[in-house]
Amino acid sequence: MSSLEKTLGVIREMARTVEENRKTLTQLDSAIGDGDHGTNLSRGFKAALESLESSSPGTPAEALKAVSMAMIGKVGGASGPLYGTAFLRASSSLGGKEDLSGEDVAAAIVAALEGVKQRGKAELEDKTMVDALEPAAEAARSAAGEGAAAVFRAAAEAARKGADETEPLVARRGRASYLGPRSAGHVDPGAASTALLFEAASRALE
Ligand code: ADP
Ligand code: MG
Ligand code: MG
Repeated sequence: MSSLEKTLGVIREMARTVEENRKTLTQLDSAIGDGDHGTNLSRGFKAALESLESSSPGTPAEALKAVSMAMIGKVGGASGPLYGTAFLRASSSLGGKEDLSGEDVAAAIVAALEGVKQRGKAELEDKTMVDALEPAAEAARSAAGEGAAAVFRAAAEAARKGADETEPLVARRGRASYLGPRSAGHVDPGAASTALLFEAASRALE
């Protein structure tokens, strides 16, 4: 299977997973935000799939760029521009490459993290998607020599742990930060969705 086909498989599995977890994500966001994270991502991934149907991307980077444009154009809120930036940076980092190595995939995840941090200014333990994405990027880098499937497997495991560990934290960025100490005791919705997306990517490459 080509890297392009694998990338499309990853995106489809991400979209399916978002749909399956739409309610859960929205419930998490109801606890410490405005209760739209699941519907936001669902709208974005639906638009991404439509765009991929109509545009026939020629490289993994083009496919990721279509996802980015859908996130930026259709999701809104905090997570739209942030996920949009993540997919755009991942896309740019791959350039015109057609055969992706584990190193390429790890570099794309690291680039996504850098984009999100630059755009959202969140650091570790601010209780945001960075708490899942940063450990994922570190794990990805460590597994880079073992191939793309191993990279996503390691990233998914680290992202899940990072997301779980947001529960006791007090939010310092995003809507949840308005709650102050009352934001503690709930998993961050964006960290949870980031873990779900890496788990989806890992499953798609099994
Ligand atoms: P909104 O808060 O605008 O309704 P969403 O509900 O879709 O947007 O997304 C909320 C998620 O976005 C949060 O759970 C958090 O993970 C993430 N987020 C918010 N602000 C930031 C930020 N500055 N940096 C990184 N992630 C952020
Ligand atoms: Mg929200
Ligand atoms: Mg909102």
